[in-house]
Amino acid sequence: MPRFRSLFAPLMCIASLSSCVATPAAAAEKLRVLLIDGQNNHQWQKTTPILVQHLKESGRFVADVVTTPPAGADMARFRPNFSDYDVVMSNYNGQRWPRETEEAFVAYLAGGGGFVSVHAADNAFADWPEYNEAIGLGGWFGRDETSGPYVYYKNDKLVVDDAPGRCGGHGAQHEFVVRTREPEHPIVKGLPERWLHAKDELYDTLRGPAKNMTVLATAYSDPATGGTGRDEPSLMAIEFGRGRVFHTTLGHADYSMRCVGFITTLLRGAEWAATGAVTIEKPADFPTEAASRSRE
Ligand code: ZN
Repeated sequence: MPRFRSLFAPLMCIASLSSCVATPAAAAEKLRVLLIDGQNNHQWQKTTPILVQHLKESGRFVADVVTTPPAGADMARFRPNFSDYDVVMSNYNGQRWPRETEEAFVAYLAGGGGFVSVHAADNAFADWPEYNEAIGLGGWFGRDETSGPYVYYKNDKLVVDDAPGRCGGHGAQHEFVVRTREPEHPIVKGLPERWLHAKDELYDTLRGPAKNMTVLATAYSDPATGGTGRDEPSLMAIEFGRGRVFHTTLGHADYSMRCVGFITTLLRGAEWAATGAVTIEKPADFPTEAASRSRE
């Protein structure tokens, strides 16, 4: 199915329908993803096609992309039909959506929908309480101790820290080891306990409601690269009503998103958010602790 961009939900339904007619058996097994972009302090025009490529090449998903109006433009027509999809994925960090769209998103998620927050999507919407509950933790845009505690690992123990202070940061970009903290969770089950991630930003000092949130994996934020000295959350799973959210802080740039560890956890996280289970297997080219692996 060709990638499809539209602000108009009825046209998206037609696009999905035509793919069902073309290959009914295959399409029935595939999960439907709605990927949102359009505003971001990152190069979403470059990274959205990479995310779509990963979804399609997995054979598990079909994806539609919906692009919001640009910053400052009238958002009133941005009304995607969330309920047409098994999972919504955000590559968006921008202005608030129309009230009806935000209410529809919350209802979709509370009613059992799935959501995936990629990298700076957790910067978005600092002043939207339900969104912050959905992503568990966020950063920047005025967040502080009123947004919720810091959550991190220290000495191999999960710490929920109410200390006042800034929210959101990262040191210099580099390759870093991602470490599994909940090895029995379906998203990370069977993956190596430690794997070397490609060059990326290592987010730190995120804060948020952190309700019904499981930290699946962390990365050590090394003071030598400008970090905090804590093991900061990299991958999280959150339950929101009957819905499920996978939150990856990874994926700053195209080269970060070509990491096989990023790809595998993104796909497995999206599948879990959509269905509550994971069938996608660990690929043969998964990184090790010593060697990162990336795909063209
Ligand atoms: Zn970034």
